[in-house]
Amino acid sequence: MKKNFQTNFVIQEENDLDWHEIQDELEKKFGKGVYDSWIRKITLNKELNNYVILSTPTKFVRDWIVSRYADKILDTIKKFKKTIERIEFVLEEKEKKQDNYIPAEDKVYSIEDSVLNYNKLNPKNNFDNFVVGNSNQLAYTAAQKICEQSSNYNPLFIYGGVGMGKTHLLNAIGLKMKKSRNVMFISAERFMYHFVRSIKNKDMVNFKDFFRKADFFIIDDIQFVRGKEVIQEEFFHTFNALMDKESQIVISSDRSPSNLDRMQDRIKSRLSGGLVVDIQQPDFELRIKILNTKLKEIKETFGDNVTISDGVLNFLATEFQFSLREMIGALNRILAFSRLNNNTDCNSISQCKIILKDLINDKVKLINIENIQKIVASFFQISLQEMLSPRRSRSLARPRQIAMYLSKKHTTKSLPDIGRKFSNRDHTTVIHAVRKIDQLIQRDETVKNNIIELKKQLYI
Ligand code: ADP
Ligand code: MG
Repeated sequence: MKKNFQTNFVIQEENDLDWHEIQDELEKKFGKGVYDSWIRKITLNKELNNYVILSTPTKFVRDWIVSRYADKILDTIKKFKKTIERIEFVLEEKEKKQDNYIPAEDKVYSIEDSVLNYNKLNPKNNFDNFVVGNSNQLAYTAAQKICEQSSNYNPLFIYGGVGMGKTHLLNAIGLKMKKSRNVMFISAERFMYHFVRSIKNKDMVNFKDFFRKADFFIIDDIQFVRGKEVIQEEFFHTFNALMDKESQIVISSDRSPSNLDRMQDRIKSRLSGGLVVDIQQPDFELRIKILNTKLKEIKETFGDNVTISDGVLNFLATEFQFSLREMIGALNRILAFSRLNNNTDCNSISQCKIILKDLINDKVKLINIENIQKIVASFFQISLQEMLSPRRSRSLARPRQIAMYLSKKHTTKSLPDIGRKFSNRDHTTVIHAVRKIDQLIQRDETVKNNIIELKKQLYI
């Protein structure tokens, strides 16, 4: 198997695939709507013995396809030819000139420039202003140890819900290490963006070299690559190359490695091969401490002279317990409001309720069947259409059952009502789904954790 891109230059071009046949299959798989809008536009550019290069007319179409359909397209192609391991996308050339897919030397600068642009660390999120409590003590200590290089935790994998401080901690590691080491800090989404861009610019060699230069490779929100085969493949190779040269790797995710569904097993096992720590929900005490720290920072930044009563701080810490980001956002809003009104004392909870009305009310408003469907679909990276379709494959049926379960438990809708919202399914189907998920919560750790995470998302 050829893993190294260099060797790909010399591999044979082949011509076995019948693209029309594959397109027919893709149309069946995606349905006419998606097919006509997106998939039809793809043409087969080149076929090599272990991968194919596909072309799209515009960058927008390509990005859309890569982010949503790439893995399924690969699956379909594999049905026709088992040896295909990955697909790459390039933009169609206006004029069909000779193209031997070798990156031009003069492209070297472009990836450097573009990547550096996204390698920005936020000086405000450092270790000094990261407030430590029971819920994040372990993650904090591990992060510091990594910086002292007094441990062999590699990779360090930090996971926790939205707004729990993961990016802050990763950023702090980056800030501390960048003085002495070659640090690369990038979100998984950006990593994919650059990957796609490099394919377009025929710049893969530089892409690979660039990321493999890092001594400290910090990648945020790895859950983003779930279900995206092509980028997982690339990530895996980057990861291995970095481990080989003993670079430190730090990863964050919204869930534990074992709960990363639609992620290759070999990557999951790599991710959990070092130290895995979680950041849990902060308790009340920590939330108050964080509010006070932020308050101090904001006052210093704006030269404000505001005081906020303990009652108001308590109110914020109680109302926004699921996301520190939201809690800090609410604090900022209250301060901005009092600044506008030249009001230096924020003591009134009822006033705060009015200022934050949309944030607080939204939570109640958001919990309806449509929203549950949306949240669940996006969590499992399926489309809403798939959620509502009659298809029964496990990858769709389970999210659908979970959405029915949450609809039953978190709305006042009746079973027949819920059935109707799921493309007119019978109420017995809903009963079955609720029972099934109730059972699975008891014995399947992944389902249990999925439900916990989804509930959080529902109520934030
Ligand atoms: P995540 O990446 O987990 O979604 P972030 O790191 O973006 O969360 O944190 C959300 C906000 O909360 C940021 O403004 C961050 O600075 C702040 N924050 C989170 N945890 C802490 C903490 N322990 N101390 C101080 N600020 C924190
Ligand atoms: Mg984050």
